[in-house]
Amino acid sequence: MLTAEEIKKVAKAMGADIVGIGTPDRWDGAPVQMDPRQIMPEAKSVIAFGFRIMRGSLRGVEEGTFFSNYSSMGYGGLNWLYIPHTMINIAKYIEDYGHEAIPLGHLSPWRGIDNEGELRPGYSRPVEPGKAAPDVMVHLRIAAFLCGLGEIGYSKVFLTPQFGPRQRLGVMLTEAELEPDPIYDGPPLCDRCMKCVAECPGDAISPDKTVKVAVAGHQLEWNDLDCERCGIYFRGGVYTDEGETGEYMSAQGRDDIKPGPISPFYHKPNNIYEYGEAICGAKGCIRACMIHLEERAVIGNKFETPFRRNKLWTVDWSQEPEAEMPASE
Ligand code: SF4
Ligand code: SF4
Repeated sequence: MLTAEEIKKVAKAMGADIVGIGTPDRWDGAPVQMDPRQIMPEAKSVIAFGFRIMRGSLRGVEEGTFFSNYSSMGYGGLNWLYIPHTMINIAKYIEDYGHEAIPLGHLSPWRGIDNEGELRPGYSRPVEPGKAAPDVMVHLRIAAFLCGLGEIGYSKVFLTPQFGPRQRLGVMLTEAELEPDPIYDGPPLCDRCMKCVAECPGDAISPDKTVKVAVAGHQLEWNDLDCERCGIYFRGGVYTDEGETGEYMSAQGRDDIKPGPISPFYHKPNNIYEYGEAICGAKGCIRACMIHLEERAVIGNKFETPFRRNKLWTVDWSQEPEAEMPASE
């Protein structure tokens, strides 16, 4: 018989860093578009996995010299390669026991709802009454919360006692009945310090407007993130002033974006995977938060040296760069 203990051990051996198990009834009352039971009505367990974002993958952005590593190794590569690869292997292990398993692939591109949770107009329709309009979007952070991995921080980023904000999430549905974990009840990780708000380059994290969601008897609250602003600033752009044009995202058909102080690039670099453009390196929502949680010593994954070792840099686009130093002989 497959046990929770065994599946956690196997998942970690295969590459997951943290594993938590919840029961589908924790989704009672969830919107039909976000209910995992729409995908697998006979599911008996929901398994959430955390895959750490290595602190080192943020180093090059922090130093202002090597930006692609976070996008490739800490973001797109995790979401599009490492997590599916690992979860497929875990699902095969479960199916070898005769229990169907569905590792949810990266959900966003096909989902039937938009960022506000509304149905995407003209996109899809339910195949029959009572069913969701495809594709169902299981909210990964809420799933991770309901499986006991941690909490959703004010920034809207998921926080765990092991890695703080430094992980990406995967979720699996299965007909295997596994011993569930309790919902996280440890010391609160987010202390509403608002460092994420202060360091977000796009002022995308609202200091006072919040979203509240009730799940499984718990009230969750996070900031009402401005996804439009985050979408520009995390790519390193800023809006041009009135009457001004900008070419930073001209390849994307925009003439109102110029490079901002957190981007050294004249134009937004090409994508690596889907997200090879996270120039911001999650300056507020991951880096500032991680630094704060490390200072409070509430993260299990400890380092010998603090993450921030130098003054924060900015690019002054009103000035030409200084002349190149001649290469050493
Ligand atoms: S930076 Fe502070 S307020 Fe923001 S999520 Fe982290 S702990 Fe919470
Ligand atoms: S990714 Fe960057 S721009 Fe977006 S919320 Fe985080 S810190 Fe702000």
